[in-house]
This record gives sequence, C-alpha cells and structure tokens, in this order.
Amino acid sequence: MPRTISPELRRALADRLRYYNELGIYDFYRRDLRVAEATASVDPMLQISELRDPMPKRTAAVQSVVVDSPPEVPSHREANTTDPVAALKIIREDLGDCTRCVLHKQGRKQIVFGVGNPRTELMFVGEAPGADEDIQGEPFVGRAGQLLNNMIKAMGLEREQVYIANIIKCRPPSNRTPEREECETCSPFLMRQIAAIKPKVIVALGAVAAKSLLAVNESMANLRGRWYDFRPAGARSNDPNWTSAKLAVTYHPAFLLRDPRQKKEAWKDLQMVMKELGLKAPAKDPQ
Ligand code: SF4
Repeated sequence: MPRTISPELRRALADRLRYYNELGIYDFYRRDLRVAEATASVDPMLQISELRDPMPKRTAAVQSVVVDSPPEVPSHREANTTDPVAALKIIREDLGDCTRCVLHKQGRKQIVFGVGNPRTELMFVGEAPGADEDIQGEPFVGRAGQLLNNMIKAMGLEREQVYIANIIKCRPPSNRTPEREECETCSPFLMRQIAAIKPKVIVALGAVAAKSLLAVNESMANLRGRWYDFRPAGARSNDPNWTSAKLAVTYHPAFLLRDPRQKKEAWKDLQMVMKELGLKAPAKDPQ
C-alpha cells in the first residue's frame, strides 16, 4: 500500500539528497521496506531529526533512517571513466568553491586539493594545509614539505612520482587541529581521490590522518609498525581488481621537525613501505 510522506519529511529528504548530490553521489538503492517499517514503528521523530542532521553519527544513522538510504558503495560521476586524471578532474569540479564546512569562512586563501602522479602506487595523506600550503595551493610545501620530499627521496622516489593529499582541504585557523565534523564533511572527497588513484600503499602522516582514515582512537605507538587493509568508505573504484590499499602509519614531518630523534622510527616505517612496494633505494636516513 502506498505510504504518505509528510511535507516536513519530504523537505528533509530533498535536503539530504541535495547534500549527497553535492558530494557527487547520484545513485541510490532501495532498502528492504520491511526493515524500514519495523524501524518506523519505533520512533518516527528520531528518524526525522536524523534526516535533518547534516552529518549524523554513522552508527545512529544506519539504525534509524527510515527511507531509502544511500548505498554503502555509491556511484559517483567519475565511475564512468577509467582515467584517473579525468576522475580527479571530476572530483575537483564536484568540490567546487566548497563551503560545506566552517573552514571556508575562517581565512582560507584557497582549497588545497592534492598533488602528484594520479597513476602512482604510493599515496601520502596528511592532516590539513598550513600557511605555506594555503598560499601556494599545494600540500606539503613548507619546511615539513621539504622533509617529506627528503623522506620520499630516501625511498628512491621523487615527489612527482607519488600523490600527496590531506584529510581536509582548507587551512584551519592558526593551524589548529581539524574538528571531527570538518574531517567527516571533507573526507568523502579524499575517499573518492583514493578510489580514483587506486594506490597500492597509503602512508598516513601523523595521528590525525591515521585516526581519521582508520576511524580508530589509538596512540601512535599502537598505530605504527603494522599494515591495515584500507577501503575508501563510500567511494568505489572503477577497477574491479582494486578494492583496497595497504595502509601504514608514520609520524607527521612537522612532528619530526620538532623531535628529530623520531626520524629513525619514521625511517623504519618507510622501509616497511619500501619492502611492500619492492623499492630498493639508497638506504639513507632522511635528514
Ligand atoms: S575543508 Fe573541505 S569541506 Fe570544509 S570548506 Fe574546505 S573543502 Fe569544503
């Protein structure tokens, strides 16, 4: 029997669909109606308020959204191309002059999308742009960027051979740590970048990047020194042979500048990555 949708719920749904479209998500699949109706009988007000929440908590949203929910693996516009360069261009277009989180009005000069080789096997992901990155529009270009370049060189690679991005794409004021909501709003675009590039290995630089990518709250001591199977949440690669990357965690170069004694530990992490990628580089400590 057809169900009547109240104008309020209809408006909430339209807002939510617009939000997903802005993220580049267009295709939706219908959820089992019996499950939806069983949930609907529990607390309809809760469901409406969840729909109004621009970024609901993942666990709560999955449990309580009553109508067609977005698929776990949505189809984005770039799913129609096999060319990572074209795919990244589409993702950048979808990002636009982004105003999705408060950082757009807190002094950013420009969006820092990402840089490097879209066909690389190795991706580095940091936390957020700093002052130099904000000015130049490129991630890791200041002193920390110089150290990252040295780390990449020590692995036997050039900066142009890898891809570098951040969890969030606008500089937080005074370089403060990004808020969880900012990370959750911005990271779907990073997920799409990862799915488009299909790297074999991702290196998370620092605790914020690692915790955000892995959705865990662990210390660096626990996060480092092991591999994680990483699947970009909510983004799908157009290559059926690529479903995940291996992810390793190391220190952020800015932290290594403050505490150079940890460079040896970072070098151990990079050697683990080199082994995985079959890189035989001049085994020198990055300076
Ligand atoms: S940080 Fe990301 S979500 Fe926030 S305004 Fe910048 S690009 Fe948009």
